[in-house]
Amino acid sequence: MNRVMIIGAGGVGRVALHKCAQHPEIFQEIIFASRTLSKCDKIVDDVKNYPHKIITEQVDADNVDEVVKLFNKSRPAIVINVALPYQNLPIMEACLRCNVNYLDTAIYEHPSVAKYCYAPQWEFHQRFKDAGLLAILGCGFDPGVTNVYVAYARKHLFDRIKTIDIIDCNAGDHGYPFATNFNPEINIREVTANGRYYDQGKWIETKPMELKRVFNFPEGIGDRNMYLLYHEEMESLIKNFPEIERMRFWMTFGDSYLYHLKALENVGMTNVKPIVFQGREIVPLQFLREVLPDPASLGSRTVGKTCIGIWFVGEKDGQARTCYLYNVCDHQEAYREVGSQAVSYTTGAPAALAAKLFLTGQWSGAGVFNVEEFDPDPFMEEIGDWGLPWKNTTPTTVFE
Ligand code: NDP
Repeated sequence: MNRVMIIGAGGVGRVALHKCAQHPEIFQEIIFASRTLSKCDKIVDDVKNYPHKIITEQVDADNVDEVVKLFNKSRPAIVINVALPYQNLPIMEACLRCNVNYLDTAIYEHPSVAKYCYAPQWEFHQRFKDAGLLAILGCGFDPGVTNVYVAYARKHLFDRIKTIDIIDCNAGDHGYPFATNFNPEINIREVTANGRYYDQGKWIETKPMELKRVFNFPEGIGDRNMYLLYHEEMESLIKNFPEIERMRFWMTFGDSYLYHLKALENVGMTNVKPIVFQGREIVPLQFLREVLPDPASLGSRTVGKTCIGIWFVGEKDGQARTCYLYNVCDHQEAYREVGSQAVSYTTGAPAALAAKLFLTGQWSGAGVFNVEEFDPDPFMEEIGDWGLPWKNTTPTTVFE
């Protein structure tokens, strides 16, 4: 019995659940668990048209013993962790205690330190290997599909990749002056941190939003401002493709988003250090998260598209070559299919496909691996059918 457990009933969890439920031939039984049981039940209610057995459960995934208890009760083959990055380590620990394989979409973060790296998760490698279990790290879109694009480009399009620019555009409009498209706390921690990129063997640090470019996006999106950020997939990509000389990550932001973010930063609302308010400790950023629109509620009102892709420069058969691989996802189409906007959609769909590839044995192994370490071909062949078709173009312009 291919039994899968999804932990986290947010925007991404909703999509992962829909995608698994759309494939009953693979996911024969689904357990949908989260901190707030009523959120699981509400989402499952929307999925009731699928011919499926879906069981909902309450769990606090910060607590290893609670996850162990749930695993022992439900016995899943694999857990898709789409709760928050804070829960990665306790869920991985529980997997080892109960012989469950693991998959997530975001790098581990400590709740009170706004800095992340893969080391705490890579340290699990030997234990997963010894147990004969597989952990697949970072299989949303970026990280996730972007890592697969790099593996695919290296396998089929280039003999040598010299530079890559990962370019993430959300050209959606939800009508609010300020809201985030995935968990506000994680999103704001990411974009307020210093930028960083890799060049000739060194990491170069920049101030937040210091480097800006205008990029002309395809399929009617047009010119958008984008800014250099540090992003988690660069850490594993540089480790796994050391030939790459320069690697950067860019994300588009509208002016309204940036003005509000600056103001919130200036008044201390994005801080992760606790303060005392009316006699009790609160974390300003966590308070801010509570007053911002819930990303899961943005689906119905978001129009426009996302476009996430990679601009590669390198060589093939002794000739210089440039390729731009990308996906465009329409917010309203995503909403019509699964009730979530495209940012959640582009994360939950690849996670569900990766779980399928594990269950069918197309992605296998024992240990802890990032997505680019698997064969990209089965993923690239299927991801279009899972809602995220890709295009490979040969640009004639130069991206500096
Ligand atoms: P949401 O905040 O919408 O949902 C998170 C869910 O996790 C909520 O239902 C929440 O429960 C639940 N949760 C939080 N803490 C716990 C806990 N201790 N135990 C059990 N459940 C818990 O986030 P998103 O759906 O937007 O994002 C989910 C994940 O996807 C995040 O890790 C995010 O970083 C990642 N992501 C990855 C992307 C990629 O491309 N790789 C892009 C976008 C997101 P409750 O409702 O009770 O708070």
